[in-house]
Amino acid sequence: RINFDNVSITDYVAATPTPTPTPTATPTPTPPPSSNVNLTMGNPSGAAANIALTTNYLMEKPQFAISYHRDNGRPNWVSWHLASSWLGSTPRQDSFRNDTTLPVGWYQVLGTDYSGSGYDRGHMCPSADRTLTVADNDATFLMTNMIPQAPTNNQTMWANLETYCRTLVSQGNELYIISGGFGNSGFIANGHVAIPTTTWKVIMVLPNGTNDVSRVTTGTRLIAISAPNNNSVVSDWRTYRVSVDNVEALTGYDFFSNVPVSIQSVIESTVDNQLIEDWEMVPDKAAIEENLASSPDGPIKEKR
Ligand code: MN
Ligand code: MN
Repeated sequence: RINFDNVSITDYVAATPTPTPTPTATPTPTPPPSSNVNLTMGNPSGAAANIALTTNYLMEKPQFAISYHRDNGRPNWVSWHLASSWLGSTPRQDSFRNDTTLPVGWYQVLGTDYSGSGYDRGHMCPSADRTLTVADNDATFLMTNMIPQAPTNNQTMWANLETYCRTLVSQGNELYIISGGFGNSGFIANGHVAIPTTTWKVIMVLPNGTNDVSRVTTGTRLIAISAPNNNSVVSDWRTYRVSVDNVEALTGYDFFSNVPVSIQSVIESTVDNQLIEDWEMVPDKAAIEENLASSPDGPIKEKR
């Protein structure tokens, strides 16, 4: 018999469910953290060395790291570390050539593919930033490190900023630099290479030291530029200074993502306004040499 005085009505509570195994299908592909010094501050687009990522394919080389876009035939970005330890006396190799490390079946842009296009073979990581060994310098001439760059942009403004970066190194700094072209204003090389509408570069300046990510503070200097990829560009790169946030908004990338967000938000929102001396605005010998050789129709001494 049931004694109803002993029965109480409570909310139904489901029995503790038997734990079900976590589904193992479709794991989110998270690129492993890189030990490549050129990616110390982060991987701006989450690029990975996965051939399915045809528009964001990670290529890590000792000298620099690339996110490559197969269908644009050019890098989305190239990221590199610049410090005195990278600099020596190796002469420029002028070995403009296709990158045979691209996935099988992907078009390899040739060293001659920009000929007659009106665009320079614009280095992202400059030849003069990699002069310690022949192998290092040779790597900068891979066409995966190039974008079609308007001659005036490349040979004046861009070259002057490259020089200024090396000047900062000579003054006791090490730099983390990421650059690329954005947009598409047509194709060259029989449709294999897209012409960017904008050229951009972001630079982090740190005094020489170790444990670099941990040394970034709200006082760390960043320099960013965004300039049209055409021949109306003026030679003074300061004209094109913007915030890193501006370039992040343009490209959709997150630069310096290994730095705490609270620090990024401060240093990426401001525009560099440091005084730069007149002598620091003059291209160095290496920049002038590079310009002469980067024009596909200029005085090129092809080695191979
Ligand atoms: Mn150049
Ligand atoms: Mn960022």
